[in-house]
Amino acid sequence: KNETMKIESDSVVLAIGQQPDFAFLSDADGIRIGPGGTIKIEPETLATSAPGVFAGGDAAFGPRIAIEAVANGKTAARSIHAYLGGSDPGTDLQVSITRVPAEEHRMPAGYERKKRETAPTTDVDRRTGIAEVEHAMTEEQARTQAERCLVCHVDTVYDPIRCVLCNRCADVCPEKCLTFAPIEQVDMPAEQRQAALARYGHDPGVPLTVLLKDDTACIRCGLCALRCPTEAMTMERFHFAESLRS
Ligand code: SF4
Ligand code: SF4
Repeated sequence: KNETMKIESDSVVLAIGQQPDFAFLSDADGIRIGPGGTIKIEPETLATSAPGVFAGGDAAFGPRIAIEAVANGKTAARSIHAYLGGSDPGTDLQVSITRVPAEEHRMPAGYERKKRETAPTTDVDRRTGIAEVEHAMTEEQARTQAERCLVCHVDTVYDPIRCVLCNRCADVCPEKCLTFAPIEQVDMPAEQRQAALARYGHDPGVPLTVLLKDDTACIRCGLCALRCPTEAMTMERFHFAESLRS
């Protein structure tokens, strides 16, 4: 305290600790708090130790993303319905996959070069009390940032049966995330190697080639599918829908 020191570093990450304030709860409420300072819950139903009380989000799981809190809300709603005398019908997940014609898959111009911008904030010396610190982006900023989306629900799908190993996809890929390699040179679990050989190694005299894709580098530009002469590489849209079981 009151001591200043200088430490050489490459970068500094500001991490602030946050935790829920449960001062409003009393023993009579019967809601148990775990050692991590979050509400103890039954993970499947989100029921707390107090009958009829359910909890989710950061208060139950600690810091997580907003989308998980939304999912918790849905789970808790089903649990509350069951608790009040109904039954939890469970959910069904429907997955549909549709091919996007390669020439129709278009990303916004220059999307891969747009820089990430943060929302404007109030100057440090003007922050007082509970005044808002982070402000909304302008519509133009928000639209520009939205164009950075890599649309990951549309992805490359590779069909080795159609592939003629022309290498055009790897050649055109701007991120160099596609590589063809002989299967002997690929470090992979023995079971996977056996499965690949069993499925595709029909002719023992013909060496088997593997297509490796670095999905973390892929920017979903679709150029590989556009360049492929045999439709072995395609862009496909994955759509997931969860609904209550009827
Ligand atoms: S979609 Fe684009 S970045 Fe991804 S593998 Fe194909 S060419 Fe490469
Ligand atoms: S462009 Fe198509 S056919 Fe050629 S190597 Fe790539 S996936 Fe195979």
